[in-house]
Amino acid sequence: MTRSIIPQDDKCNGWYQLLSDPAPPNRLNTHTDADWLVIGAGFTGLAAARRAAELRPGERVVLLEALRVGQGTSGRNTGFVIDLPHKHDLEGDDLARKQKLLSLNRAAVDDLATLVERHGIDCGWSLAGKYQGAVGERGLKYLAQYERLLKDFDYPYRRLERNALGPILGTRHYAAAIYTANTALMQPAALVRGLGESLPSNVELYEHTPVVGLTRRGGKWCATTPEGEVKATNLLLGSNIYAQEFGFLKHRVLPVMTFASMTRALTDDEMALFSAAPQHFGLTPADHAGTTVRLTPDRHLIIRNQYRYVPKYHDNLAKRMRVRQGHRDSFLARYPSLEHVPFMATWGGACGLSRNFTPFFGKVDDNAWMSGVHQCVGVARGTISGKLLAELATGQDSRQLTDMLAVSGRPALNPPEPILKIGVKTRMMCAARASRSEL
Ligand SMILES: Cc1cc2nc3c(=O)[nH]c(=O)nc-3n(C[C@H](O)[C@H](O)[C@H](O)COP(=O)(O)OP(=O)(O)OC[C@H]3O[C@@H](n4cnc5c(N)ncnc54)[C@H](O)[C@@H]3O)c2cc1C
Repeated sequence: MTRSIIPQDDKCNGWYQLLSDPAPPNRLNTHTDADWLVIGAGFTGLAAARRAAELRPGERVVLLEALRVGQGTSGRNTGFVIDLPHKHDLEGDDLARKQKLLSLNRAAVDDLATLVERHGIDCGWSLAGKYQGAVGERGLKYLAQYERLLKDFDYPYRRLERNALGPILGTRHYAAAIYTANTALMQPAALVRGLGESLPSNVELYEHTPVVGLTRRGGKWCATTPEGEVKATNLLLGSNIYAQEFGFLKHRVLPVMTFASMTRALTDDEMALFSAAPQHFGLTPADHAGTTVRLTPDRHLIIRNQYRYVPKYHDNLAKRMRVRQGHRDSFLARYPSLEHVPFMATWGGACGLSRNFTPFFGKVDDNAWMSGVHQCVGVARGTISGKLLAELATGQDSRQLTDMLAVSGRPALNPPEPILKIGVKTRMMCAARASRSEL
């Protein structure tokens, strides 16, 4: 199989810009053999490589990443490690499935918290919880549904109305929100970089090393890179939507991009809007097509909204300028007194949906396993499924593994182009129009 598209994420990611420059990348420039080849150093690939190395301490694990760690989507998200089943996962009727998702996500939050502490990863990690916010009638309808789901699920929460939210969120824009306590917030580029720097000693990480061809020869997986080659017995795919380029889950992934903008750090005077402790928060929209907002511990405000279908996994600058204007409108609707505060960055990140909202976890070929298409909420799921992927591949047996297999499935087959493109674009446009009040 020869790939056709490799990741080319731009350098606009605000989180990455806040980090110091990394040491020069270690690129693969030789032909080498390994026991394990892991492709993609996002949350999934990093967790898979770490676990394979822990379970097989005498074996050699090679992890290949096309970009620098933190430049891909795992370093571009809004930094919520969500314990609750999210979006469509919470809406289904199957309570047992939701309990499984909750315990898997909680395991991911705990695993990341342990690694952050053990390796001193400076990523603003905080078990700050999250608000689910509603602006208008439409949002309130979704919030009422969310509240019913939490009650059915027996999950503890607190509902706050506009007056109580004002000092916390720094705005009276929200009619109401529901607070749940067990979501962690973090700086994603800092976290994934820290995870990449703290891998076990039998993992070799090569960055700026895209896999440009993948074949199976003589019972081994052979990955070709621009300056080298890896031959490995086992293959773990953490390349998410790009797995299609190697022929896996072909025509079953909907690559979409969502976008974020970040302000410069607010001054002491500007922070007066947020008078209630702890002066940082994360808010996701009650209506999924609405706006995510974060105030980080280092005082940057972040706005995330809008989705685009990106069959080639990229956007273009003109598109991003339109997105940025939309973010500016959302920002000013919430914080008119901060009109003078500029955005320091606007960026997008590509992630995977499927038509049946089903993520994939399992075997894809002889000695090849993959986890991906996390329905655009892959921080917790990528972390726990990456770890369990290595457990599956090494023949472990555990309750968590059984649960992960039970909550995963096969993403539905897409219709051919241009029907797919027209269908996805129309659906996204209708959702954005219907959700205008929540943007
Ligand atoms: C703006 C935004 C906000 C989001 N907010 C959240 C959030 O708050 N919480 C949440 O849970 N999710 C969020 N998401 C989604 C989340 O970021 C993804 O689900 C998650 O990154 C998936 O992790 P992953 O490791 O599976 O895949 P990815 O992060 O996509 O990692 C795959 C890696 O594989 C590499 N790769 C691909 N092809 C090759 C190749 N040929 N050779 C070598 N390397 C390759 C890529 O460069 C990439 O680094 C958000 C996404 C965006 C864009």
